[in-house]
Amino acid sequence: MQNDWRDPRLDRRAFLAGGAGALALSGCQTAPAAEPGAAEPAAHRPKLGYLFALGVASGEPLPDGVVLWTRLAPDPLNGGGMGPAPVPVRWEVADDEAMRRVVRRGTVLAHAAWAHALHVEVRGLAPDRIYWYRFSARGEASPVGRTRTAPAPAARPARLGFAVASCQDFQNGYYSAYRHMAREDIAFVLHLGDYIYEYAGNPARTRPHLGGETVTLADYRNRYAQYRTDPDLQAAHAAFPWLAVPDDHEVENDYADDQSEKRTPRAEFLRRRAAAYRAYYEHMPLRPAMAPRGAAIPLYRRRRFGTLVDLFLLDERQYRSDQACPGPRWGGQVVNPDKCAELADPRRTMLGAAQERWLSQGTARATGRWTVLGQQLLMASLIQPMQSGELGVWTDGWDGYPAARLRLANHLVAARVPNPVVLGGDIHSFWVTDIKRDYRDPRAPAIASEFVATSITSSGVPQVIVEAGMKLPYIKFAATRRHGYLRCTVTPRLWRTDLQTVDTIARPDARLATLKSFVVEAGRPGPQPL
Ligand code: FE
Ligand code: CA
Repeated sequence: MQNDWRDPRLDRRAFLAGGAGALALSGCQTAPAAEPGAAEPAAHRPKLGYLFALGVASGEPLPDGVVLWTRLAPDPLNGGGMGPAPVPVRWEVADDEAMRRVVRRGTVLAHAAWAHALHVEVRGLAPDRIYWYRFSARGEASPVGRTRTAPAPAARPARLGFAVASCQDFQNGYYSAYRHMAREDIAFVLHLGDYIYEYAGNPARTRPHLGGETVTLADYRNRYAQYRTDPDLQAAHAAFPWLAVPDDHEVENDYADDQSEKRTPRAEFLRRRAAAYRAYYEHMPLRPAMAPRGAAIPLYRRRRFGTLVDLFLLDERQYRSDQACPGPRWGGQVVNPDKCAELADPRRTMLGAAQERWLSQGTARATGRWTVLGQQLLMASLIQPMQSGELGVWTDGWDGYPAARLRLANHLVAARVPNPVVLGGDIHSFWVTDIKRDYRDPRAPAIASEFVATSITSSGVPQVIVEAGMKLPYIKFAATRRHGYLRCTVTPRLWRTDLQTVDTIARPDARLATLKSFVVEAGRPGPQPL
């Protein structure tokens, strides 16, 4: 999903000439590119010289451990400023915020080959406990971060809270949502993609990207560093462990496996993908085992939270089939499904054969009360009006992969997967839906519940698409032009999702409100308004 719906890059004639016939609503817009280096934000210059200018983070909570992250970068927007030598960094974990009762400590080397980023795998901690941590090197100390382990495998937590975020185009506005999220009573943050946007700096935007479109490893590193200088984003990382999976913009808009939307030659695009995945790993609190090898990064994984939540994190970019019936560009567009026979081809895949098998086998033996799919996209079908008067679907989303979606839905039913809940992002608007096997059959029952988070800052879909969607009987709620996140509170009998919104992204001091709340009762698929 593109980051800005208001600035069409392709003009409408070029778009229509490609045969899509869609409104220029759901296609292919990006912000016009500025010359590299044209944008120089004044307000977000980090303090030069501080080793820990990018803050601290933790992630991948297990019952006995977490990953601690930082990156030494005294000149973060210009490659980091560290030089070639490895640097020893001391880390400490304490069970008090003042860091007096240290329970684990060690020293690791930060290497230039990995941008002096650290991914410390701490084990031997107690389950479902809050800990504090910090790093020190060259006589400087990092801020103190807070983290939390997962409940023990056999534990029966009475409650689990977490937030769901996606799509944080830095150029588009401020991260007040993260400042408010940092104060929530939650155990972790789930980030479902578009952590950065690859686009060139545009001086007309609220706070422009530095530099041109990101292509090289140096470009991506500087882009992550620019995002990570944001104090609200740093606060959300320092407050909770994160579980993150990228979507498309961490590499390039609408890419599919080794296919660039710009028809970049495969080998060249894979070099870009390798740089992008490496920078993603370097800036996320991922386990060292998740480090990329060339253009491949192992992202899909399972995390359990006692017997309450069995979470499957999916990767919907790296292994997918190309978008069906491509137009002038190879990314998504709106097509009339009756005019695109390729859409229904059962060989087309969203997850790839290996991940699909892993998900089927894992969910068939899921052990939690709630089985959660943390994935990137809106899963329910969104039929949208086209300029031609026809009805179309967006080929980059699950609507572009209907056979794969039906295989998954059939499996959830056949394997009696316990209480499936689908979480998504990408579409820059809130969506609350019934997942069904057949979206055209009004009598088809809900088989799972879906909550899609709106963007932290990225521009939303047009209101006309939301209004069309709201008329579909299985779509319970949708809202665009809102920014924020989902707050999920899970108990054995009831799942609750609050749609948390900020009142502006134009200023850094927005207020938070709950737009709407929905619940799902265990044993009864389908969200209900509260
Ligand atoms: Fe996005
Ligand atoms: Ca996306």
